Amino acid sequence: MFPPAPLDPEALERAARLLADAHSVVAFTGAGMSVESGIPDFRSDDGLWRRFPPEHYATIEVFHQNPDRVWTLLRAMGELVKHAVPNDGHRALAAMEAEGMLKAVITQNIDGLHTKAGSQQVLELHGTWRGLHCSLCFHVDPGGEALPDHTPICPRCGGPMKPPIVLFNEDLPQVVVTRAWSLAAEADLMLVIGTSLAVWPASDLPDVAAGNGAALVEVNDRPGALRYRQAVELGGAVAHVLPRLLERARSFRQP
Ligand SMILES: [Zn+2]
Repeated sequence: MFPPAPLDPEALERAARLLADAHSVVAFTGAGMSVESGIPDFRSDDGLWRRFPPEHYATIEVFHQNPDRVWTLLRAMGELVKHAVPNDGHRALAAMEAEGMLKAVITQNIDGLHTKAGSQQVLELHGTWRGLHCSLCFHVDPGGEALPDHTPICPRCGGPMKPPIVLFNEDLPQVVVTRAWSLAAEADLMLVIGTSLAVWPASDLPDVAAGNGAALVEVNDRPGALRYRQAVELGGAVAHVLPRLLERARSFRQP
Protein backbone atom coordinates (compact mmCIF):
# COMPACT_ATOMS: atom_id res chain seq x y z
CA MET A 1 0.00 0.00 0.00
CA PHE A 2 1.10 3.53 -0.77
CA PRO A 3 0.69 6.08 2.02
CA PRO A 4 -2.32 8.39 1.57
CA ALA A 5 -1.77 11.65 -0.28
CA PRO A 6 -1.22 14.63 2.06
CA LEU A 7 -4.16 16.97 2.74
CA ASP A 8 -3.61 20.24 0.84
CA PRO A 9 -4.63 23.18 3.11
CA GLU A 10 -5.66 25.38 0.14
CA ALA A 11 -7.88 22.64 -1.27
CA LEU A 12 -9.43 22.21 2.18
CA GLU A 13 -10.25 25.94 2.29
CA ARG A 14 -11.89 25.84 -1.14
CA ALA A 15 -13.88 22.69 -0.34
CA ALA A 16 -15.05 24.07 3.03
CA ARG A 17 -16.14 27.34 1.39
CA LEU A 18 -18.14 25.37 -1.21
CA LEU A 19 -19.75 23.26 1.52
CA ALA A 20 -20.63 26.30 3.65
CA ASP A 21 -22.16 28.19 0.69
CA ALA A 22 -24.02 25.35 -1.06
CA HIS A 23 -27.76 24.83 -0.66
CA SER A 24 -28.20 21.24 -1.80
CA VAL A 25 -25.32 18.95 -0.93
CA VAL A 26 -25.18 15.20 -1.36
CA ALA A 27 -22.39 12.82 -0.40
CA PHE A 28 -21.67 9.81 -2.59
CA THR A 29 -19.59 7.16 -0.83
CA GLY A 30 -17.79 3.95 -1.71
CA ALA A 31 -15.50 1.32 -0.22
CA GLY A 32 -12.85 3.83 0.93
CA MET A 33 -15.40 5.16 3.42
CA SER A 34 -15.29 1.96 5.47
CA VAL A 35 -11.64 0.89 5.25
CA GLU A 36 -10.87 2.61 8.58
CA SER A 37 -13.88 0.80 10.03
CA GLY A 38 -12.18 -2.53 9.42
CA ILE A 39 -13.66 -3.47 6.05
CA PRO A 40 -10.93 -3.71 3.40
CA ASP A 41 -12.04 -2.61 -0.08
CA PHE A 42 -13.38 -5.83 -1.68
CA ARG A 43 -11.26 -5.00 -4.76
CA SER A 44 -7.98 -4.53 -2.85
CA ASP A 45 -5.22 -7.12 -2.42
CA ASP A 46 -6.62 -8.16 0.98
CA GLY A 47 -10.22 -7.76 -0.17
CA LEU A 48 -12.91 -10.42 -0.45
CA TRP A 49 -12.82 -10.68 -4.25
CA ARG A 50 -9.30 -12.12 -4.07
CA ARG A 51 -10.59 -15.10 -2.06
CA PHE A 52 -14.03 -15.22 -3.66
CA PRO A 53 -13.86 -14.17 -7.32
CA PRO A 54 -17.22 -12.47 -8.01
CA GLU A 55 -17.95 -14.44 -11.18
CA HIS A 56 -17.88 -17.67 -9.10
CA TYR A 57 -19.37 -16.40 -5.83
CA ALA A 58 -21.23 -13.15 -6.22
CA THR A 59 -23.59 -13.17 -9.21
CA ILE A 60 -27.34 -13.63 -9.02
CA GLU A 61 -27.01 -16.49 -11.55
CA VAL A 62 -24.65 -18.42 -9.25
CA PHE A 63 -27.02 -17.74 -6.35
CA HIS A 64 -29.90 -19.34 -8.25
CA GLN A 65 -27.79 -22.36 -9.27
CA ASN A 66 -25.79 -22.84 -6.10
CA PRO A 67 -26.90 -20.65 -3.16
CA ASP A 68 -24.66 -22.58 -0.73
CA ARG A 69 -21.58 -21.40 -2.61
CA VAL A 70 -22.69 -17.78 -2.50
CA TRP A 71 -23.35 -18.19 1.22
CA THR A 72 -19.65 -19.07 1.79
CA LEU A 73 -18.92 -15.55 0.54
CA LEU A 74 -21.87 -14.03 2.43
CA ARG A 75 -20.68 -15.53 5.72
CA ALA A 76 -17.20 -14.01 5.23
CA MET A 77 -18.75 -10.67 4.28
CA GLY A 78 -21.17 -10.83 7.20
CA GLU A 79 -18.32 -11.41 9.66
CA LEU A 80 -16.62 -8.22 8.43
CA VAL A 81 -19.85 -6.23 8.61
CA LYS A 82 -20.74 -7.56 12.05
CA HIS A 83 -17.49 -6.33 13.59
CA ALA A 84 -17.31 -2.99 11.80
CA VAL A 85 -18.01 0.28 13.61
CA PRO A 86 -18.50 3.77 12.13
CA ASN A 87 -15.36 5.93 11.90
CA ASP A 88 -14.90 9.71 12.30
CA GLY A 89 -15.69 10.14 8.58
CA HIS A 90 -19.15 8.54 8.98
CA ARG A 91 -19.72 10.66 12.08
CA ALA A 92 -18.70 13.87 10.28
CA LEU A 93 -21.27 13.21 7.53
CA ALA A 94 -23.97 12.54 10.13
CA ALA A 95 -23.06 15.85 11.83
CA MET A 96 -23.19 17.73 8.50
CA GLU A 97 -26.72 16.44 7.98
CA ALA A 98 -27.79 17.28 11.54
CA GLU A 99 -26.44 20.83 11.09
CA GLY A 100 -28.27 21.37 7.80
CA MET A 101 -25.20 21.22 5.55
CA LEU A 102 -25.96 17.88 3.88
CA LYS A 103 -29.18 16.56 2.40
CA ALA A 104 -28.41 12.86 2.02
CA VAL A 105 -25.77 10.20 1.70
CA ILE A 106 -25.87 7.97 -1.37
CA THR A 107 -23.69 4.93 -0.73
CA GLN A 108 -22.46 1.88 -2.59
CA ASN A 109 -21.61 0.23 0.74
CA ILE A 110 -23.73 -2.54 2.22
CA ASP A 111 -22.35 -2.28 5.76
CA GLY A 112 -25.03 0.03 7.22
CA LEU A 113 -22.36 2.20 8.89
CA HIS A 114 -23.81 5.55 7.76
CA THR A 115 -27.06 4.70 9.53
CA LYS A 116 -25.18 3.43 12.59
CA ALA A 117 -23.28 6.73 12.72
CA GLY A 118 -26.56 8.65 12.85
CA SER A 119 -27.18 9.69 9.24
CA GLN A 120 -30.95 9.82 8.58
CA GLN A 121 -31.18 10.13 4.81
CA VAL A 122 -29.16 7.20 3.50
CA LEU A 123 -29.70 5.72 0.05
CA GLU A 124 -28.07 2.31 -0.21
CA LEU A 125 -27.69 1.68 -3.94
CA HIS A 126 -26.38 -1.85 -3.48
CA GLY A 127 -28.74 -2.76 -0.66
CA THR A 128 -27.80 -3.40 2.93
CA TRP A 129 -27.03 -6.18 5.37
CA ARG A 130 -30.29 -6.25 7.30
CA GLY A 131 -32.71 -9.19 7.52
CA LEU A 132 -33.28 -11.74 4.76
CA HIS A 133 -34.98 -11.55 1.42
CA CYS A 134 -36.23 -14.31 -0.92
CA SER A 135 -34.66 -14.23 -4.37
CA LEU A 136 -37.75 -15.85 -5.98
CA CYS A 137 -40.93 -14.40 -4.42
CA PHE A 138 -39.28 -11.35 -2.75
CA HIS A 139 -40.68 -12.27 0.67
CA VAL A 140 -38.86 -10.21 3.33
CA ASP A 141 -37.94 -11.46 6.78
CA PRO A 142 -36.71 -8.28 8.54
CA GLY A 143 -35.47 -10.18 11.59
CA GLY A 144 -33.84 -12.98 9.61
CA GLU A 145 -30.66 -14.50 11.07
CA ALA A 146 -27.70 -12.63 9.54
CA LEU A 147 -25.18 -15.48 9.58
CA PRO A 148 -27.01 -18.82 9.37
CA ASP A 149 -25.11 -22.14 9.17
CA HIS A 150 -27.10 -23.23 6.13
CA THR A 151 -28.72 -21.36 3.27
CA PRO A 152 -31.96 -20.01 4.75
CA ILE A 153 -35.12 -21.14 2.97
CA CYS A 154 -38.12 -18.92 2.28
CA PRO A 155 -41.10 -19.91 4.48
CA ARG A 156 -43.45 -18.84 1.69
CA CYS A 157 -42.05 -20.48 -1.47
CA GLY A 158 -39.05 -22.60 -0.45
CA GLY A 159 -36.61 -20.42 -2.43
CA PRO A 160 -33.12 -19.55 -1.15
CA MET A 161 -32.85 -16.37 0.91
CA LYS A 162 -30.03 -13.87 1.34
CA PRO A 163 -29.57 -10.42 2.86
CA PRO A 164 -31.04 -7.72 0.59
CA ILE A 165 -27.67 -6.79 -0.87
CA VAL A 166 -27.33 -6.52 -4.63
CA LEU A 167 -25.28 -9.27 -6.27
CA PHE A 168 -23.58 -8.80 -9.65
CA ASN A 169 -26.11 -8.84 -12.52
CA GLU A 170 -28.93 -8.24 -10.05
CA ASP A 171 -31.16 -5.16 -10.43
CA LEU A 172 -30.55 -2.20 -8.16
CA PRO A 173 -33.48 -1.24 -5.89
CA GLN A 174 -35.48 1.01 -8.23
CA VAL A 175 -36.96 3.36 -5.62
CA VAL A 176 -33.49 4.05 -4.23
CA VAL A 177 -32.02 4.60 -7.69
CA THR A 178 -34.75 7.06 -8.70
CA ARG A 179 -34.30 9.11 -5.52
CA ALA A 180 -30.48 9.04 -5.76
CA TRP A 181 -30.46 10.22 -9.38
CA SER A 182 -32.89 13.04 -8.66
CA LEU A 183 -30.86 14.19 -5.61
CA ALA A 184 -27.71 14.18 -7.76
CA ALA A 185 -29.44 16.22 -10.48
CA GLU A 186 -30.69 18.80 -7.94
CA ALA A 187 -27.40 19.11 -6.03
CA ASP A 188 -25.21 22.18 -6.22
CA LEU A 189 -22.37 20.27 -4.52
CA MET A 190 -21.51 16.58 -4.45
CA LEU A 191 -18.90 15.17 -2.07
CA VAL A 192 -17.46 12.10 -3.80
CA ILE A 193 -15.88 10.05 -1.03
CA GLY A 194 -13.76 6.90 -1.07
CA THR A 195 -14.86 5.63 -4.44
CA SER A 196 -12.78 4.86 -7.52
CA LEU A 197 -15.98 4.96 -9.63
CA ALA A 198 -15.36 1.41 -10.84
CA VAL A 199 -18.95 0.14 -10.59
CA TRP A 200 -21.59 1.18 -13.09
CA PRO A 201 -24.26 2.64 -12.94
CA ALA A 202 -23.35 4.21 -9.57
CA SER A 203 -20.23 5.62 -11.26
CA ASP A 204 -22.46 7.90 -13.37
CA LEU A 205 -23.71 9.89 -10.35
CA PRO A 206 -20.93 12.55 -10.31
CA ASP A 207 -21.58 13.13 -14.03
CA VAL A 208 -25.29 13.61 -13.34
CA ALA A 209 -24.46 16.17 -10.64
CA ALA A 210 -21.76 18.00 -12.62
CA GLY A 211 -23.88 17.94 -15.79
CA ASN A 212 -26.53 19.90 -13.88
CA GLY A 213 -24.04 22.45 -12.62
CA ALA A 214 -22.93 20.98 -9.26
CA ALA A 215 -19.45 21.53 -7.91
CA LEU A 216 -17.54 18.37 -7.03
CA VAL A 217 -15.23 17.68 -4.09
CA GLU A 218 -13.38 14.39 -4.08
CA VAL A 219 -12.13 12.87 -0.81
CA ASN A 220 -9.91 9.85 -1.26
CA ASP A 221 -6.57 8.50 -0.05
CA ARG A 222 -5.50 8.71 -3.70
CA PRO A 223 -7.84 11.13 -5.45
CA GLY A 224 -8.06 11.39 -9.22
CA ALA A 225 -11.15 9.34 -10.15
CA LEU A 226 -13.11 12.37 -11.36
CA ARG A 227 -12.77 13.66 -14.89
CA TYR A 228 -13.46 17.30 -14.01
CA ARG A 229 -10.59 19.76 -13.86
CA GLN A 230 -12.57 22.05 -11.58
CA ALA A 231 -13.17 19.27 -9.00
CA VAL A 232 -11.47 19.98 -5.67
CA GLU A 233 -9.33 17.02 -4.61
CA LEU A 234 -8.82 16.34 -0.91
CA GLY A 235 -6.19 13.65 -0.45
CA GLY A 236 -6.02 11.68 2.78
CA ALA A 237 -7.88 9.13 4.83
CA VAL A 238 -11.61 9.89 5.04
CA ALA A 239 -11.67 9.62 8.85
CA HIS A 240 -9.01 12.33 8.95
CA VAL A 241 -10.24 14.63 6.15
CA LEU A 242 -14.02 14.77 6.72
CA PRO A 243 -13.92 16.04 10.33
CA ARG A 244 -11.52 18.80 9.21
CA LEU A 245 -13.75 19.71 6.30
CA LEU A 246 -16.74 19.91 8.67
CA GLU A 247 -14.85 22.01 11.21
CA ARG A 248 -13.66 24.50 8.56
CA ALA A 249 -17.11 24.74 6.93
CA ARG A 250 -18.65 25.48 10.34
CA SER A 251 -16.26 28.39 10.82
CA PHE A 252 -17.38 29.88 7.46
CA ARG A 253 -21.05 29.57 8.39
CA GLN A 254 -20.77 31.46 11.65
CA PRO A 255 -22.54 34.86 11.49
ZN1 LIG B 1 -39.95 -16.99 -1.47
